[in-house]
Amino acid sequence: MRAQPNGSHYIDGGYVEDESGEAFASIYPATGETIAELHAATPALIERAIAAAQKGQAVWAAMTGAERGRILRRAAAIMRDRNEALSELETLDTGKALSETLVADAASGADALEYFGALAADITGDYIDLGGSFAYTRREPLGVCAGIGAWNYPIQIASWKAAPALACGNAMIFKPSEVTPLTALKLAEILSEAGLPAGVFNVVQGMGPVGAALAGHPRIAKVSVTGSVPTGARVMQAASETTKHVTLELGGKSPIVVFADADLDAAVSGAILGNFYSTGQICSNGTRVFVERSVRAAFVEKLVARTRAITLGDPLRVTTDLGPLVSRAQYEKVLSYLEIGRQEGATVACGGGGAKVDGFPDGVFVEPTVFTDVTDDMRIAGEEIFGPVMCVLDFDDEEEAIARANASEFGLAAGVYTRDIQRGHRVVAKLQAGTCWINAYNLTPVEMPFGGFKRSGIGRENGRAALEHYSQVKSVYVEMGTSEAPY
Ligand code: NDP
Repeated sequence: MRAQPNGSHYIDGGYVEDESGEAFASIYPATGETIAELHAATPALIERAIAAAQKGQAVWAAMTGAERGRILRRAAAIMRDRNEALSELETLDTGKALSETLVADAASGADALEYFGALAADITGDYIDLGGSFAYTRREPLGVCAGIGAWNYPIQIASWKAAPALACGNAMIFKPSEVTPLTALKLAEILSEAGLPAGVFNVVQGMGPVGAALAGHPRIAKVSVTGSVPTGARVMQAASETTKHVTLELGGKSPIVVFADADLDAAVSGAILGNFYSTGQICSNGTRVFVERSVRAAFVEKLVARTRAITLGDPLRVTTDLGPLVSRAQYEKVLSYLEIGRQEGATVACGGGGAKVDGFPDGVFVEPTVFTDVTDDMRIAGEEIFGPVMCVLDFDDEEEAIARANASEFGLAAGVYTRDIQRGHRVVAKLQAGTCWINAYNLTPVEMPFGGFKRSGIGRENGRAALEHYSQVKSVYVEMGTSEAPY
């Protein structure tokens, strides 16, 4: 299986190759096959991308919001037309099951292009009456923005960053994770086809140092990174040297709190989706499931039965629920946490190890795993594992559940399951998390801002809130009388 792009990078409206950059490969994690060989961007190529972006941004910012929006919406339509091919490519690059990529990856990217395309004509300032004189504000682009992506939702992350950035009149240079370099290039192709001027959206490939070069570059006005907490901290530090705007979408160890009065089947569905979708590789996953003690046994029984029925298999077959993890490195990391959980004294209620899948002897599959008898001090309950590993904990009352749910350095997301609507809102108001759900989990419609509290991040993606993070306000005072000086 090959998915070799026409060049490693996409700069100034076309593919570019530069074999002097460090070589790396994209690997299909179900088989271990190399599907594409690429090269990291050299410092000279990064300079070329920045020059192209500056040139493109001037053209793009001079267009009206309505014109920009039309191009973004056209790109959304092309992306939807190509959903199947894009989903297959995303499955090859990430290993995620096609049953998911068909609905959650390019489709979500298209939602972002459509939504911000629709808002682009409505990015306006305010009029401020000063009793004779007046002021107004202009919402202006920042300039050239850098986007740095994680490997779990490659085209979605690229689109969630590009769509609001471009709607506001910025240009973007996007660096995908080296593990999943392919679909961002397709986004660039689609944007060009939709009429985006050359240089407005560029892709440069590479490892951490390429991201670091972008984050520290004086001609880049903003950097938005999706990745782990340590990477976010490094990006913020590099960005501080040139006082850049930053958006950080980082990791989590989010709680799902299930009260005894909840619809238990719905709560089990939430816990399953919030732990095993994308083979557990989702930043907002609710990996600490707190269940009120009186319903814990019933909850675990239903959960285990449904988890055992999850189908691991050929990611390209649409009946498969879960594919492998993204890479062998991630597989080793997840297996090590399964061992840590056992050593810490947690009980393996189901799963608990690597999985063998017929026809895929080299696939890095892991069984969806439920740990019970987990306590807050265990590493499996405190650290982000980023695999299909759920921890079930129990609690006795609401106050205790809130305190324990909040006892984390992370604050990305949280969920509450209850039939008591007052309790639902009361608890959510006290949870320290940027994105919360009541009687649902992990739904991220583009209209709703998404982002973290505490160490899980700064800034918001999606919703109107994202526009604030890709634009700056200029205030203009207009004197209608005469300027006077007291001396
Ligand atoms: P990493 O933090 O390892 O990498 C994220 C991106 O940053 C990659 O493109 C990486 O390049 C790049 N990078 C690495 N070092 C630097 C640096 N010093 N300066 C600039 N860029 C750098 O995360 P993963 O790719 O492993 O993704 C998993 C993490 O992402 C998890 O913690 C997860 O929770 C988080 N995440 C958060 C989301 C959110 O919206 N909050 C959504 C999805 C994931 P390379 O890969 O080439 O090394």
